Amino acid sequence: PAIRTPVPGVVGADVLVPLVNGERVTYANFDYAASAPCLEAVRDVLDGALPYYASVHRGAGFHSQVSTDAYERARATVAGFVGAGAEDAVVFVRGTTDALNLLARSVPAGCEVVVFAGEHHAALLPWRHHGSGAGRVVRLPLPESPAAAVAAAREALGARSEGPRLLVVTAASNVTGELWPVEELAAVAHAAGARIAVDAAQFVPHLPFDLAATGADYVAFSGHKLYAPFGAGVLAGRVDWLRAAAPYLAGGGATANVTEDDVRWNDLPARHEAGSPNVLGAVALAAACAALTEAGQDALHEREQRLLGRLRAGLAGIPGVRDLSLWDADHPRVGIVSFVVDGLPADLLAAALSAEYGIGVRDGLFCAHLLTRRLLPSGHTQAVRASLGLGTTVEHVDRLVDAVAELAGRGPKWGYELVDGRISP
Ligand code: PMP
Repeated sequence: PAIRTPVPGVVGADVLVPLVNGERVTYANFDYAASAPCLEAVRDVLDGALPYYASVHRGAGFHSQVSTDAYERARATVAGFVGAGAEDAVVFVRGTTDALNLLARSVPAGCEVVVFAGEHHAALLPWRHHGSGAGRVVRLPLPESPAAAVAAAREALGARSEGPRLLVVTAASNVTGELWPVEELAAVAHAAGARIAVDAAQFVPHLPFDLAATGADYVAFSGHKLYAPFGAGVLAGRVDWLRAAAPYLAGGGATANVTEDDVRWNDLPARHEAGSPNVLGAVALAAACAALTEAGQDALHEREQRLLGRLRAGLAGIPGVRDLSLWDADHPRVGIVSFVVDGLPADLLAAALSAEYGIGVRDGLFCAHLLTRRLLPSGHTQAVRASLGLGTTVEHVDRLVDAVAELAGRGPKWGYELVDGRISP
C-alpha cells in the first residue's frame, strides 16, 4: 500500500563524498543502526529551542522557565511514545548503555537476572558490573528459534518465586535485525513472578513500541539511533525499584535536602538525573518521537521492508555472499543485514565500499561478540553490516548490491591495500 504521509527528511541526505578516483557522489548511508542522521523536523525544533536554552528546574528567569517546560514536555512526549502509564517513570539518561546500567544499579539486592548470550554488550554486561545489586546472573545460550527462546526463558525462570528476578531481552537484534518474541517472553516472565526489561535501541527507530501492549516492565533506547543527535536516551518503566534505589549519580538535582550529617534524595525522575540535564538532547529525542509518530511508524516500516527485501534479494543473488541470521530467513526483522563475502575480508570490503562507491557500512562484531561470532561462517572473523533508515533510497540499495557484486567478482587485484583501516594505493 502507498505511504499516506511523506517520509520525514533527514539532514545531510545530499552530502557529497569523495571517491578514490576523484569523483564526488552522494553519500549512501547504510549505518543507521550505529547512529541515524538528524531528522529535518528535529533540527527545526532544535533551532526553535536554542535561543531559550538554560538550566532547568532551578533557574527563576524566563529562559529557565521555557527550558524547564520544554524538558518536561519532552518527558511527556516520550511517555506517550512508549506507552508509559501512571506507575512508570521516564528517566532521561545518555543512551541505552546508560539506561541499562542505571537499571542494573536499581534492581533490588540479590535480584536474579536472566539474559540471552546474544545480547548487545550494553544488555549483556551491566548485571555483573560493579554497582549492580544483581545476584545470580543466568546466561542462556542462543536459542535455535523464537519458540526455543520462550521455552528457555520459561525453564530458566522456573516456578513462581517471591524473590526479585529480571529477564533481559532485545526487541530487535543489532546484528541480524531479527525481532525477538518480546510479548511471549513478557508473559513467561510475569507468569514466573519476574520482570522483563527490553533493549529497544534497534526497535523504536523502525516500529512502534508500547510498554503496556507488550507487557514489558522496562524499556531502554537511544536518541542518536532515533534520528536525534547524540547524548540523550531513555529508561522508562516501573517506578518502585527505581524509586527505592540509591541515586545513579550523587550530586545536585538528585538531592531534596543536604545537611552536615545527612542527605535526603529527591523522588523520581530527578533522583536519577543528577547534574544539569541535557535539555536539548531530551527535546531533540522527543521531537524525533513526535515526528515518527506523526508520519506513522507502521507506514515507514512498510516502506523500509520493501527496501530491505530488495537488498536481501540482491545480495542473495551474488555468489559467495552469505547473510547472518539466527533464525529462519523469513523471520520478521527490521532494516539490518549483516553479511560476509567469501574470500573477501570484511574490513577491506567495507573500506572499498566507502572509497570506491561512497557507501558507508560498518564492519566488525557489532558490540555483540557472542552472537556475531556464532553466526560467522568458518573462515570469517568479522562481518559487514548494512542498516537502513529514512534516508535510504532504491538507488542506494542498488548501488550497494552492484558494488558488492563487483567487488566479490573482482578477485585479488585491488590496486590498493588496507593500512590501519584506510585504503592505501
Ligand atoms: N543495544 C543495542 C541493541 C544497540 O544496538 C546499541 C547500540 N549499538 C546499544 C544497546 C547501545 O546504545 P548506546 O551506544 O546508544 O548506549
